[in-house]
Amino acid sequence: MNNNIFPTNGILERASKELLLGQKGICIWFTGLSGSGKTTIAIELEKQLNLKGLLTQVLDGDNIRTGINSNLGFSDEDRIENIRRIAEVTKLFVNCGIITICCFVSPTNEIRAIAKQIIGEKDFVEVFVNTPLEICEKRDVKGLYAKARKGEVKDFTGISAPFEAPLSPEMELNTANLSAVESARLIIEKLKL
Ligand code: ADP
Repeated sequence: MNNNIFPTNGILERASKELLLGQKGICIWFTGLSGSGKTTIAIELEKQLNLKGLLTQVLDGDNIRTGINSNLGFSDEDRIENIRRIAEVTKLFVNCGIITICCFVSPTNEIRAIAKQIIGEKDFVEVFVNTPLEICEKRDVKGLYAKARKGEVKDFTGISAPFEAPLSPEMELNTANLSAVESARLIIEKLKL
């Protein structure tokens, strides 16, 4: 840490921003295999929340890996840095009173623990999108499972790299049985949003 960096005083407090918005900041963290439905549910959840007059921000691979993290690859070191930056950005949104919906495979307990530690336990709601691998692979939204099976994508979660199921997620959704609309409704109910 640079000794010449000092904290800024006087920035408007989180509580004032939450009062202004009439809502509480929170991070809804989706974890699950590629194609499990994280982004699809996030989009539906954002739609339903916005209809209720609530301000949201969705973060996913598309707006993060092409933007703030465009200089990062998939080495162990870069994966940790990827999640650290995502969590720091999320924290800024949450401290602004915004319902921040994060969609990242985040396949290991270690990675999710880093995110939770940075964002803060009380602001971190873990939702495990637990759609069976066979279904994700059948959907193959991005054609990545086929490539992974042929060995054209290395270390692909679920095929050639492990996915560790979260130990105690706040919620678990299986999109084999639930539509995106139903999943979003369940989250809103559970979190009393
Ligand atoms: P992820 O963000 O987890 O990689 P996506 O949301 O990008 O997954 O892809 C999930 C795919 O599965 C989408 O093409 C979506 O239309 C499809 N799908 C089918 N049924 C469901 C469901 N019940 N819930 C969510 N997605 C579903």
